[in-house]
Amino acid sequence: MIIRSLSIRNFRNIASADFIFDPKVNIFTGNNAQGKTNLCEAISVCFGKSFRNPKTSELLPFGSLDTETSVEACFSFDSMPDKENVVTYTQKNSSFRLKFNGIGMKDAEELYGALRYVLFIPEDLYIVKGDPEKRRNYIDFVSNMINRVHNSKLYEYNKALRQKNNILINMQSYDNSALMMLDSWNETLAKLGVNVMCGRIRYFDMLAAGAKKYYSLLNSNNEILDVKYESSVMGDTPFTPEDHILMYETYLNKLNESKDRERRMKYTVVGAHRDDVSFFINNMPAKDFASQGQVRSIAVALKLAEAEMITEKSGDVPIVILDDVLSELDEFRRAFIINHIDKFQIFITSCNLSDTEKFESGKIWNVSDGKFTLKD
Ligand code: ATP
Ligand code: MG
Repeated sequence: MIIRSLSIRNFRNIASADFIFDPKVNIFTGNNAQGKTNLCEAISVCFGKSFRNPKTSELLPFGSLDTETSVEACFSFDSMPDKENVVTYTQKNSSFRLKFNGIGMKDAEELYGALRYVLFIPEDLYIVKGDPEKRRNYIDFVSNMINRVHNSKLYEYNKALRQKNNILINMQSYDNSALMMLDSWNETLAKLGVNVMCGRIRYFDMLAAGAKKYYSLLNSNNEILDVKYESSVMGDTPFTPEDHILMYETYLNKLNESKDRERRMKYTVVGAHRDDVSFFINNMPAKDFASQGQVRSIAVALKLAEAEMITEKSGDVPIVILDDVLSELDEFRRAFIINHIDKFQIFITSCNLSDTEKFESGKIWNVSDGKFTLKD
C-alpha cells in the first residue's frame, strides 16, 4: 500500500499540515523537538493506534483541550491501485473516532491487518542490545502479526506459568500435594510452551534470512549477520514446528530435571519464557561486540525483513516508517537507506539535512516548530 496524502490538524505541536507524498521515499529533516516523531505518530494513529501508547488527551496541543484534533490519510492498496481509501481519526477531549471509508470502526484493532506499517524507532536498538525480554517481545509481536492466534497462546502460557510459580513461592519443603500439582503444571506448561515456541519459529527462518540479506546490502565491509533462536529447552538440538512431539518430551524432561533448582529459586527456570534470540556478525555475538552503527544496522535489517515477511504473508506491501534512523550510520549505509529500499514506500526522519546529501529521488520536507516546508 501507499499513503498518497495526509492532513493533520491540531495534533501535538502540529497545528496544520498537508502532504502529498512520494510513492517511494519521503524524508523529514529538522532540529530536535520540531515535530518529526509527532508526524510519524500521526501516521500511526491513522493506522489504528499510536506507537507511543499515550493517553488520548496527550495528543491534543498543549493548553488547548477544547480543540478538535484530526488526521486524515488517503491511501491505496496494491491490489487496487486506482481506488482511493480514506482513514480519518478525529478527537475531541478524550474521545476519538476512527473511520475507514466513512464507516466507523468499533476499535483500532479492526484496522490491524488491513493497514500495516513497519516502524523503526531508536528504542528498537534494545532489541539487539537489551534484555532477552525485549527480543522475545519482538519475536512474539512479529509472530502475532503474521498469525493472530499467537498472542492468545502466549497469554495461556503466561497464565499457567504464573500459577505454577505461585505454588513454588508458597510451598513448604515437603508438601506432597504441592509436588503433585507441580507435576501436573509441568505437563500443562510443556504443552503450552511448545505451542508458543512453534508460533515463534514458524516464521523465524524467514525473518532471519531477510535480516541477513538486508544487513549485507546495508554494509560495504562484507559483514555477515546471522540470527539464531536460542531455546532454553532444546539447546543445540535442531528443531522445526513439525517436531512438536520431540519438543514436548524434551520440554517435560527439562522441567523434571530442573525440579530441585526451581524449588530453591522459587520460579520456573526453563521454558519458552527463557528463550532468546542471538545476533552474530561474522560469528561474533553482536550483544557483546557490535559497534553502535552495527547495532543500528541490525535493527534496521530486522525491520526491513519484517516488512518483506508481511508482504509475502499478507500479499499487501506495508509502509515503512524509520524515525531517526540515519544517525551513527556511515555514508554507505545512509545512502542505501535513502536510495535503495525500493520495495516499500518509506518515511524517514533525520536531524541532519547533510544526511540526505546523496538523496537521488523522492521528497524532502524541512520541519520547524511543527511546520513542514517541502524542499524544491
Ligand atoms: P527529535 O529529533 O529530538 O526526536 P522531534 O522533531 O522528533 O525531535 P517530536 O517528538 O516530534 O520532536 O516533538 C516535537 C515537540 O512537540 C516537542 O517539543 C514536544 O515537547 C512537543 N509536544 C509533544 N506533545 C505535545 C502536545 N500535546 N502539544 C504541543 N506540543 C507537544
Ligand atoms: Mg523524534
